[in-house]
Amino acid sequence: MIINIPRNSDFSIHNIPFGIFSTQDRSKRVGIAIGDQILDLLEWSKAGYGEVDSSYFDQEVLNPLIKLGKKITNQLRSDVQDWLNQDASMYNKYSSLFVNQMDATMHLPVEIGDYTDFYSSIEHATNVGKMFRDPENALLPNWRHLPVGYHGRASSIVVSGTPIKRPFGQVFDSDNNTPKYQASEKLDFELEMGFIIGKENTLGNPISVDEAEEYIFGMVLFNDWSARDIQKWEYVPLGPFLGKNFASSMSPWVVTMEALEPYRVEAPKQEPQVLQYLQSDRSRNIDIKLEVELETSSGSKTTLCKSNFKYMYWDQAQQLAHHTVNGCNVRVGDLLASGTISGHTPESYGSMLEISWGGKKPITLLDGSTRSFIENGDTITMKAYSENNGVRVGFGEVLGNII
Ligand code: CA
Repeated sequence: MIINIPRNSDFSIHNIPFGIFSTQDRSKRVGIAIGDQILDLLEWSKAGYGEVDSSYFDQEVLNPLIKLGKKITNQLRSDVQDWLNQDASMYNKYSSLFVNQMDATMHLPVEIGDYTDFYSSIEHATNVGKMFRDPENALLPNWRHLPVGYHGRASSIVVSGTPIKRPFGQVFDSDNNTPKYQASEKLDFELEMGFIIGKENTLGNPISVDEAEEYIFGMVLFNDWSARDIQKWEYVPLGPFLGKNFASSMSPWVVTMEALEPYRVEAPKQEPQVLQYLQSDRSRNIDIKLEVELETSSGSKTTLCKSNFKYMYWDQAQQLAHHTVNGCNVRVGDLLASGTISGHTPESYGSMLEISWGGKKPITLLDGSTRSFIENGDTITMKAYSENNGVRVGFGEVLGNII
């Protein structure tokens, strides 16, 4: 290998994720994360490597590169892997093609035209249903028949590291039986994964569940920040609005579906059987280990939960098939997020709402302070990776500090 890759790096030679970076002397451009370095694809291409024209790397977003299609981008990943596999003694010759990740600024990797958020974890939907509605009938009648979702807002999706301003809005004051305007007192994270559309369908032409994965370029780690008090008052009858659209944070590296292929696992059984247009190969869930950490303003870090993407009741092919079954078209760069990913146990719940059970069970952090929701100065960091047989493909992290 031309560079030394630290053990347990998310960015192994098997990963080769795409992102947009800049440095003091390099404009925004396409790069690939490898170990703790970035391979500058613009300079790499200009040096004569690969078959993709360098203009596709001299870009502020990945959309033009993604539009070339999987055949081209897979070949590119393979060419980069072959090139990286040369002897370490060659590094000095090519050192100008690499940038230390510590020295780079990462940017939102894609221009997101439309953002859709699903609600596809049965554990999360059950927990929220118990708290917001009816403990006996937590899941609404449609939930096991279709992947419930809503159209979110793309304009407020920010890259990891962007500070998040606590939102103001309307909340219901139950003591005085009237709404009031104030800063949200129930700011929350939602542990999610998102996928990015890599191929378009035309309006009126649904994507079938069997071909859906051809339309997915890759995945990111996603924190769908939520203001629970605003959400609870506003969401009836049309669903999430200002409790959600103030910000969502996204990890900067897009991991391709091809890199995640070795980590496919069986999906949970669906009962009752779903309609035919949603019947998917139930072996296409992905084992992605997830973790959320809270760091207080004084620097004390506490792990809040550990979950796994493999728990998802509805898989991505079903989500995309359902999204387009009415003829809705998706476009390259669109982001479709999973919904909060919770497991069976409280240690695997993917939001503060569930971890503190609506504030009824505040948790104690390692420094002795307690939290029901997120306070100003707190930083929430999410990490995600897949690993088996010592081969690791990871997403790095998505973090946001509340101000
Ligand atoms: Ca969400």
